[in-house]
Amino acid sequence: MLVAGNWKSNKSFNEAREFAHAFSQLPGAPEGVEVMVAPPAPYLAAMGADSLPFRLGSQNVSATGPGAQTGEFTAEMLAGCGVQDVIVGHSERRDGHGDDDARVADKVNRVLDAGLRVVFCCGESLLDRQGDVHFDKVLRQLESGILHLPAEAMVNVVVAYEPIWAIGTGLTATAEQAQEMHAAIRGWLTEAYDAEVARAIPLLYGGSCKPANADELFACPDVDGGLIGGASLEPSTFHALVEAAGRAVGNREEANV
Ligand code: PEP
Repeated sequence: MLVAGNWKSNKSFNEAREFAHAFSQLPGAPEGVEVMVAPPAPYLAAMGADSLPFRLGSQNVSATGPGAQTGEFTAEMLAGCGVQDVIVGHSERRDGHGDDDARVADKVNRVLDAGLRVVFCCGESLLDRQGDVHFDKVLRQLESGILHLPAEAMVNVVVAYEPIWAIGTGLTATAEQAQEMHAAIRGWLTEAYDAEVARAIPLLYGGSCKPANADELFACPDVDGGLIGGASLEPSTFHALVEAAGRAVGNREEANV
């Protein structure tokens, strides 16, 4: 299970450091649970990746390499700052910052070429869901974003399904809605690669995931954790999600005995 926090454009630098300190005072992640936090980019190097109680993530990356690209930061620069995971294709970047499918695919390649792990986001709009094209929409995003990757590269790929209508709205996909989309993604990965590759890729759910609904979502067989926005901003709330993931790991182990 992976519990990944996306702080977006929130927190001062001091607040970011205070969060890391407070989180480090809480019990460590349960066996089988990884934790990642993606603070705002200007803080990444100074977060001190080596001493953090979580993997350091970036919310964005340049689609190009080094050179005359004012304001951009490359995947290699992120790696040099201790970043391990990079979120690519978040709907807030697809819709508001020009990250179309081609640019998202370029970013995926840059992240993997730099030896980092990519958290590839996909998800449908409310209109897509109302028009019953949500499966098509998500599978098309996967096709253009990751189908070109060789199977060996897939060990560094995480997929986050984030229905846009559930992000930051307080609306959450039901466990059934999350599970049926995750099963479709797993099925697509099985066809595109094979069952072993598909099984190993963590599929995160994102969209108003919080302590009150995490147990139900994480209990879904194809939900392997969460990409968390609002509920990642406060240490004890985020930690409650890490504990929920720990319970899900325990339940899965018991079910497999
Ligand atoms: C997100 O933006 O990735 C997200 C899931 O946000 P929230 O949890 O606030 O809906």
